[in-house]
Amino acid sequence: MSWHQVEQLTANLYRISERLDRVEPRFGIRTVNMYLLLGEERAALIDTGCGIGDLRGVVARLTDLPVMVLNSHYHWDHVGANAQFAGGAIHRIEAGLLVQEQDLSEYRAAMAAPSAMAMLPDGFDPAGWRIQPPPPSRLLTGGDRVDLGGTVLTALHTPGHSPGHISFLDERQGVLFCADLAYQGPVFICFEDADPAAFAASIRMAAALPGIQLICPGHNAPIRQPGWLGQFAADAALALTGEVEGALRREYVVGREFDFGEYAIWLPAQHRPSP
Ligand SMILES: [Zn+2]
Ligand SMILES: [Zn+2]
Repeated sequence: MSWHQVEQLTANLYRISERLDRVEPRFGIRTVNMYLLLGEERAALIDTGCGIGDLRGVVARLTDLPVMVLNSHYHWDHVGANAQFAGGAIHRIEAGLLVQEQDLSEYRAAMAAPSAMAMLPDGFDPAGWRIQPPPPSRLLTGGDRVDLGGTVLTALHTPGHSPGHISFLDERQGVLFCADLAYQGPVFICFEDADPAAFAASIRMAAALPGIQLICPGHNAPIRQPGWLGQFAADAALALTGEVEGALRREYVVGREFDFGEYAIWLPAQHRPSP
């Protein structure tokens, strides 16, 4: 079985996924997703995953168009294969974070075990695995438009999970690429540079977008229920205001977990409810 899984979602949209749980099961997340969206003149590759295997080759089998990388945010599992492509675009406030070499030492050690190696692509060497993306070739701010020819993506600044987190909106098809803002699984608003108040505003804004037919998150399955973001935003509000109880967790990820069944929202351990 190949490392990257490809699924066609619409006539011009592919989901490319890899198994994050094989790299680090303790996140409790099954996949990390990349999306290849084809315009008439260019293609956008939204995120590049964990940097394992030949993503460029996978993309080349799907399109001959020139490919531009758009990063939702700087985390290692979304920018891992940036170096296989020319340049990339990211929110301007994460440009400096993007180019820092990311610390993979824990994952590298776990992946060197024979059982883990058996699930990785042939020839992959954990010891040589590095993630250090090249400098971005374009800096984005909220409202910027990325024209692929016939298809246009609008960058929406949706901070919270990270300061420069971007969602991309294909208004014509009603597709929202919301990355780590919301997905079916544990959503982490508890890392060092997370901002729960900004997350609350971001998810409210996303839930209010008209005409969304397909939600393409950064992790786990795409979602075709138009009302899903509204429910997620309502549950996020309950967590943020303290109307539901969260459990303090000090395991691999440290935070206060609010479990809503198909997803959980993790806020910082020291989070104080705000009305
Ligand atoms: Zn992230
Ligand atoms: Zn992520």
